[in-house]
Amino acid sequence: MNADEKPQTEETLLSPESTFSFSCHDTLPCFTQCCKDVNIYLTPYDILRLRRALGIRSGEVLARYTRSFLAIPSHIPFVQLLMDPETLRCGLVTEDGCSVYENRPWACRIYPLDLAREPGKYRTIVGRERCLGLKEGTPRRVDLYLQSQGIDATYAEMDEALQAVLPRNAQPGSMRGEALASILSLAYDLDRFAQMIHDEDFRSSVEVDDETVREAVENDEALLRLALRYIRSELTELGLLP
Ligand code: SF4
Ligand code: SF4
Repeated sequence: MNADEKPQTEETLLSPESTFSFSCHDTLPCFTQCCKDVNIYLTPYDILRLRRALGIRSGEVLARYTRSFLAIPSHIPFVQLLMDPETLRCGLVTEDGCSVYENRPWACRIYPLDLAREPGKYRTIVGRERCLGLKEGTPRRVDLYLQSQGIDATYAEMDEALQAVLPRNAQPGSMRGEALASILSLAYDLDRFAQMIHDEDFRSSVEVDDETVREAVENDEALLRLALRYIRSELTELGLLP
């Protein structure tokens, strides 16, 4: 199916093999307008990539470029890209486009597509009247488009690991809920987690060998994998995960 053959509505379902026409470039009147007044949720892996791109600590990335809140009643923390309160623009956009393009978040990579509710399907998240690039370009396959945007297997691996540590039955307002939020936030604030891994308490709470710790010190992705492993162990200890 070619998405161009039908009106482009949010309901148009695309499979990985479907094609859609799209070309984004800086001569379009909408250039960078999609980086304004948008809700972009960030994953721990997105924060890792932003930390790498910006060369600053994770706590500073979170403080300067994001806002966080706890979902009610689950106490699961969510992190969003912060939009400037006056201009409503993302703090990372410039006149020339995204300043962290190579490490931009997953949601920015997949745009103007998004996951559809139906597993394995995609949809356009915005109409052609707002994203003028949808009126241009030659038809391209969805899966090849995602590949070209750098959505590789690491995104799927990190998302799966994150989903595995999100409890389904957290108790609202309880001490456990507060502990849950604090423990899960370590996945976003990797520098805080990195400080913990040399502590005796850490080594006794999660079985981890020297080689794993060494890898985590040298490699950000290994650090995040270890953080998610630690989180799982702590939440299991609290009875929040099986
Ligand atoms: S709105 Fe669409 S075409 Fe315009 S800059 Fe954003 S992604 Fe590109
Ligand atoms: S991170 Fe980059 S692509 Fe995403 S909204 Fe901000 S400027 Fe735009």
